[in-house]
Amino acid sequence: MGTSATRIQYLRRNLLGRKREVVTRVISTEDEGDQNEIISIMKEVETDTSIARDEVIEKCQALYEEAQTIPELHRDAHKKFLDASFTNDLPPQMAALDASQPWLLYWTANSLRVLNEKYLTKEYQFRICEKLFAISPTGGPFGGGVGQLPHLASTYAAINALALCENGEDYWDMVDEKAIYDWLISLKQENGGFKTCLGVGEVDTRGVYCALSVASMLGIMTDELTEGVVDFLVDCQSSEGGFGGCPHEDEAHGGYTFCAVASLHILDAIDRINIPNLAKWCSQRQLDPERGLSGRSNKLVDGCYSFWVGGTAAVMELYGLDHLINKSSLRDYILYCCQNGSRPGLRDKPGTHPDLYHTNYILLGLALCENSFNLSDNGKAVQCKPLPVTAPSHLSSINPIYGLPTKNVQKFISHFV
Ligand SMILES: [Zn+2]
Repeated sequence: MGTSATRIQYLRRNLLGRKREVVTRVISTEDEGDQNEIISIMKEVETDTSIARDEVIEKCQALYEEAQTIPELHRDAHKKFLDASFTNDLPPQMAALDASQPWLLYWTANSLRVLNEKYLTKEYQFRICEKLFAISPTGGPFGGGVGQLPHLASTYAAINALALCENGEDYWDMVDEKAIYDWLISLKQENGGFKTCLGVGEVDTRGVYCALSVASMLGIMTDELTEGVVDFLVDCQSSEGGFGGCPHEDEAHGGYTFCAVASLHILDAIDRINIPNLAKWCSQRQLDPERGLSGRSNKLVDGCYSFWVGGTAAVMELYGLDHLINKSSLRDYILYCCQNGSRPGLRDKPGTHPDLYHTNYILLGLALCENSFNLSDNGKAVQCKPLPVTAPSHLSSINPIYGLPTKNVQKFISHFV
């Protein structure tokens, strides 16, 4: 095929089911009618996602064009949104989050700490710790709520929430590291992964990250715990370059990729993966003209990937790869498109409502955009340094491995290790 022609491949949409025929057509780019030909083919390959994306692009472009100056972070409004979650009940449609109570505590407490370390008051810290030890009076592992089975995700969120609190009332000493360690070992699988929950849990990269994050924070990492984990993670890297949830079979996804890459950093095994492929995949997640990040190929931008993919890029910065994403563009997406005027909370994209999950991960993403990351001279500590940006948001320095402020990670780990 010469340079005057291009080959286009697409799925025939009018067939149902998974085995749709791939159609290949060669288009001349020299003929007078080439533009019309390409446009008509683009219409043929129009999908629900491509239509939704056109709408998102229109909304983002309107926000970029309307603003006279770069919007600042609406700190006071977002603080009000977070404070309200300590006083207001969640709406009835949030009943599903009953199994995610430690997550709600982590997202809220972390957002407050990232905005300003003083925003998480002693009163809030007391209430968080009381809630966590009501869920697990014996000091862990933690379920999603009172009377619920211990789960890796809720134990990870509970330990992060505890790390955000000071050790007032000696709450940190109430954590039962031995019980948590024995439970983690009981979740270990032959393929190196961890079940998220005894008996019924799934095994994927999220479970690995939650287990390793908890174990490294509590100083209970052993060879017995980490045996086979690197091989499990390496086999989760897909041909696209990002990571899926399970070995050899999954599509690359921003959340799974962060979990795998942060875990490989904890295990000091980043050199075991295909780094150029991962770098390419991360860069491809940033969409133009929206400027934000998507979590998968052919998906829409979403503010939470500012952390899941932006955090992956930040981990790779520790290994000298510092241009995987355009931080300045991502910062624009967050400040222009994830805020709604001066209304409180952060949202995934224009047209959606803010929530605690997105508020947390978008604030972390903004902190990633306004800082650079490197390893200390001894290669052990993650250092976060401010980048020169116009009108900085003055967020706390953060540790991308744990998604927590650097200061809280350091204090908590030094208490246990
Ligand atoms: Zn999202």
